Amino acid sequence: MIAGNWKMNKTVTEARDFVTGVQGKLPAADQVETAIAAPALFLQTMLEANQDRVLRIGAETCYYEDEGAYTGEISPLALHQMGIPYVIVGHSERRRYFNETDDVINRKVQAVFRNGMTPIICCDETMGRRESGDKIHWVVNQVSAALKGISEENAAKVVIAYEPSWAIGSGTSASSDQAEEGCYLIRQTIADIYSDDLANGVRVLYGGSVKPDNIAGLMARNNVDGVLAGGSSLSEDSFIQLANYQN
Ligand code: PEP
Repeated sequence: MIAGNWKMNKTVTEARDFVTGVQGKLPAADQVETAIAAPALFLQTMLEANQDRVLRIGAETCYYEDEGAYTGEISPLALHQMGIPYVIVGHSERRRYFNETDDVINRKVQAVFRNGMTPIICCDETMGRRESGDKIHWVVNQVSAALKGISEENAAKVVIAYEPSWAIGSGTSASSDQAEEGCYLIRQTIADIYSDDLANGVRVLYGGSVKPDNIAGLMARNNVDGVLAGGSSLSEDSFIQLANYQN
């Protein structure tokens, strides 16, 4: 899976032009699944521009209640009714700037599944934790907390991204060894909670300064099933190059 996270970038017109521009240039979904998570404001326009329906259009976040007095929040029920298949949950920027705790993230994962969508759960790790040797507990705890109470049937569908915060937006990706190590740790945690079989079927992505010139080395690793790209998903050209990294 090659997924993009636009964050708070672009306008509705730019979002529509991007989707129009990638039509016919992405690999078939049964070879490489491609997805862009975009601001909720753009989703309807993007869905309408997505004539060939190869690109999956996802949301960057949602609330954990379906409806009610939650001013400004994004309803997972409404996202599902629009035809949105994926929602990013627990991105490090949501944890850091919007105080999302493991408990909130778990509720969001439940809400996404309850509404028939699939969460792309992000799991971060700071350089401080890496250097202090605490990264294993940190990663294991985030994955376990996000999946608390999630059935085997739903866990089998989840997508999890290993996104070290020290690599996000830095211009320098983790090495392929570091990416492999983080993704392996996530897969092992899922195996411990559920089973090896289930864990082997889950897609684990790496995210953090992925670019067209480093994607092939990351994707060559056993436990890296895809990438989540921020900056390099913003231009049509670089997203098309990421999606076609094998060619
Ligand atoms: C992200 O925000 O999820 C991300 C991976 O960003 P970037 O690719 O820009 O480092």
